[in-house]
Formats: sequence, C-alpha cells, structure tokens
Amino acid sequence: MNDMSFAYQAVTLKRELVRPRSMLVDGRWVAAQSGETFPTYNPSTGEKLSELQSGDQQDINIAVAAARSAFEGPWRRVKAHERQKLLIRLAELVDRHFDELNLLDSLDMGAPVGVTSPIYKRRSVGRVLYAVSSALQIKGETIQSSLPGEILSYTVKEPIGVVGAIIPWNGPLGMAIWKVAPALAAGCTIVLKPAEEASLSTLRLGELIGEAGFPDGVVNIITGYGHTAGAALSAHPDVDKVAFTGSTEVGQAIIRASAGNLKRLTLELGGKSPNIVFPDANMEQAIPAAAMAGFANSGQACIAGSRLYVHRSIFEEFAQAVAAFGQGLKIGDSLDPDTRIGPLVSERQLERVTGYMRVGTEEGARAISGGARITEGDLAKGYFVPPTVFTGVSDSMRIAREEIFGPVISAMPFDTEEEVVQRANATPYGLSAGVWTKDISRALRMSRLIRAGSVWVNCYAAIDAAVPFGGYKMSGHGREGGMMHLDNYLETKAVWMKEE
Ligand code: NAP
Ligand code: MG
Repeated sequence: MNDMSFAYQAVTLKRELVRPRSMLVDGRWVAAQSGETFPTYNPSTGEKLSELQSGDQQDINIAVAAARSAFEGPWRRVKAHERQKLLIRLAELVDRHFDELNLLDSLDMGAPVGVTSPIYKRRSVGRVLYAVSSALQIKGETIQSSLPGEILSYTVKEPIGVVGAIIPWNGPLGMAIWKVAPALAAGCTIVLKPAEEASLSTLRLGELIGEAGFPDGVVNIITGYGHTAGAALSAHPDVDKVAFTGSTEVGQAIIRASAGNLKRLTLELGGKSPNIVFPDANMEQAIPAAAMAGFANSGQACIAGSRLYVHRSIFEEFAQAVAAFGQGLKIGDSLDPDTRIGPLVSERQLERVTGYMRVGTEEGARAISGGARITEGDLAKGYFVPPTVFTGVSDSMRIAREEIFGPVISAMPFDTEEEVVQRANATPYGLSAGVWTKDISRALRMSRLIRAGSVWVNCYAAIDAAVPFGGYKMSGHGREGGMMHLDNYLETKAVWMKEE
C-alpha cells in the first residue's frame, strides 16, 4: 500500500465509522438492551470516531445463552476438518481485509500504520493459519495402566465449552485473533469483549467471521466497559473458561470472579521486563533494539523492555545512544506512514504516563530525553509523549518497579552477572527478558537463570503463533502460542473399558 492509499482508505473508513456500531449476538447485529452507548476516540487528534453499544450483564446473559446453544447444537457436530475449512476461509478474509483492519486499530488506538502494516499482517494471518494446522492435531492416547485384568484406558480431548475472552486495547486485532482462532480450532464457542478504547477492528473481524461461514452463536462480540460487561462475563455461571489479556490487577479480579463455577483460566498479564546488555554485545544491533524494546507501540506493550540494565563499563555511552535513537524517531499521527511513535491510547493513559514521569523526577532520577507531554504544534491535540530515558534510577524507585505502559526506559548500570540476574528477577512479574552478549556460555546461563516466560538473546519481542508465550509469577497463567495454546481450550477425559 502506498502513502496516498493509507490516507484515502482512512477517509473512507472514517465516513463509514460515523454510523453507530452494533454488537454480534447469535449471528445478528444488535443494540445493547439498555439502549446505552459510549464513544470511541482517535488518540492522534482527540476527535470522536464512533459510538459503540454499551453492553452489560443483560447482553452478556443473552450472548452466553447463544454461545451455549451453539455449543450444544450444530457446532458440536462440526468435525475438525470442517472447522479447519472455516478457519482457512477466515485466514483468507483476514489476509484480504488486513489493511482495513489494521487502519481501524491505528485510528482507534494510535499504533502507527507505517510500523504495523509490514509486521502485523504475517502475525495476524499466521495466528489463524496455526489454528488451522492445530485443529487436526487434537488427539488423546492409550495408556497401559497397572490395574489387574483386561482393562483398556485411553484419553480423549473435548472442547471446554463456552469461552469468555477479554482483551486490552494495545494490540486489538492480533489479540482478538489469538483468542478466537484456537478456541474455534478446539471446537469451543466464544463471547468476546474487546477493550472499550479500541473495539472497532474486533467488530469488523466479527463480520468476517460471519462471512467465513461459522454458524450463528459460535462467536459473539459484546462491546462495553470492563466493570460491567467484563465483570459479568468473568462471573457468569455458564461460562466454562475465561481467556484474559490485560493488567495483573484485573487478572486478579477475574480469578476471584471465576471462583463461583471454578472456570478454567488463562491469564496474560503485565510485565516489567529486564533487558540486559553486556559489554561484548553487538552494539549496532543492541542500541536500536533496546530503544525499540521500550518505545515500540509508545511503550504500550506488556513485553516492553522497560528496565534496561547496562554493564557499567559502557553505561553512559549506551544510555545516551538509546536516548539519541529515541529522539530520532518521528512522532506523529498514526496514519502518517513515516510516523514511528504514535500517541498514547487515551487521556487517562497520558495522565498515567506523565504521572510516572513526574514521580521519576521527584524520586531523584533524571530524564536524559523526553520526560513530558508534547504541548506544541499539531501534536498538542493528541496524547503524545516523546521516547524517554531515565538515568540515576535505583531498583527501589517506582519507575523501576511498576509497569508504566508508556515510552519510558529506566536505564541502570550493573557490575556483575550474578548481581544483574538477582536484580532482573527481583520483580513480581516474569513475562519476558532480553540478554545481549556474544558469549554463548553466558547466554545459556542467563537464559536458564532468568525467571520469565520468554527470554530473547540478541533479539527482542520475537513472537510467533507456533511458540508458547506467557508469564511466570504475576505475569499470568498458561501459554498462548504452540500446541499448549490449543490445550487451554480442551478438557481431557479418561475412559476405562473392561473386557467382560
Ligand atoms: P485492563 O485494564 O486490565 O483491561 C483489559 C480488559 O479487561 C479490557 O477489556 C477491560 O475493559 C477489561 N476489564 C476491566 N476491568 C474488568 C473487570 N473488573 N472484569 C473483567 N474485565 C475487566 O488492561 P488495559 O489497560 O486495557 O491493558 C494494559 C494491560 O494489559 C497492561 O498491564 C499490559 O501489560 C497488559 N497486557 C498483557 C499482555 C500479555 O500478553 N501478557 C498483552 C497486552 C497487554 P475496559 O478497558 O473496556 O473497561
Ligand atoms: Mg479509540
């Protein structure tokens, strides 16, 4: 797609978006029972994009009932190879309509199209295709038990049932697909609640799911707030499993809400990931990668490399180079193809991030780049903050401990390997980590000793549908990606057969 067509398509989309959006329940597009709606905004400009239905408990009840009857009814009889065919069609539709889906996210939550277009297509389509391949991999085993007599034992895998999926706003399309596709491959039905700040691409995905031919009620989409629609979905007694991506705090609320009927849970939660640079690293690669580990998606990434540990011998130089790299990134409207850093998603997120910038300074750290909202020129209308690097940070400061979810890197020097391992692990989170070194033994040691779900050596943020992704400690439960992902949507039944 060339530059002109981004702008052209965006104008067409904006015109289309003016109409109020409805929700997908049992194959029909409906309004909320309450008649309530809420607005969604373009964070690059602060302008309103569209009006969405404010679904609540009543709508969740209807959607869960639809998902239940689809599960007990026609969907249960759809064989794996038929689910595979439907998913292949969905993959084709996501591929064909990717630019539109991606533009919707850019408009709605501010990710720069120039960055996301080349990367997210492969990722989004790839996630559906992986589900296509996994649909036929569902299998049990025959097991030799030690019970006396002729008794055969084997396992079968069955779909868990009705899944409630709740996703955040920082990568809406990819996240919606990573919930829906494996659940469908497994034979589950779904009620999906996107984040109120960015629901548009999920609603469009719902239309494509219908076009692909999935039966009514198999996928339902309820827009609305977390404290109403989200809370109702996670507490619903007829939902068998909740797949959640979001903050650790809401993850804990979901664990509590799940207790009523002991829902199965997968939780992809927050992080405060260490990115560790040794003096023998390839600096040409490590500098831009360390910067983008912290600044990509304006730092609104669960895997953000927000704690940058650099060996003391190269600390000053490296921190300055990361700051300079950040200063060279073009900040702008998410639809400008040259933009590398878009806005934060909302005014609320802007307050959170600038609040942390103030706290950092008050606690004695020093911003060597960035450090405050952009208040001049065109960007003043949107929620823009520049890439920020803090030095003079100690491990006990809040900017070194808490997830900021903005383009803020806390750079800290270290002296020894043992020390940095201990400091890297001294966090309640355990989502991911980066290690930069050419020493293979050190790379092996570091990857063994760091307690995190993903460890990237001489790279950062590599994610693929075939590879498990998820958190240790308070970064979550379960894994998405790989065959474990599908298993999260399956129950295991042991069958015993005795010869008469
Ligand atoms: P959030 O506040 O936890 O919201 C996530 C979703 O949960 C939204 O749809 C939200 O609804 C909903 N929600 C809020 N309160 C709820 C409740 N009481 N019950 C049920 N659902 C509720 O997170 P966010 O601010 O959108 O996203 C940022 C967080 O997500 C960060 O902590 C980040 O690290 C994490 N994240 C993790 C991963 C991962 O894979 N590990 C990936 C991306 C993001 P509304 O927002 O519509 O009210
Ligand atoms: Mg929005």
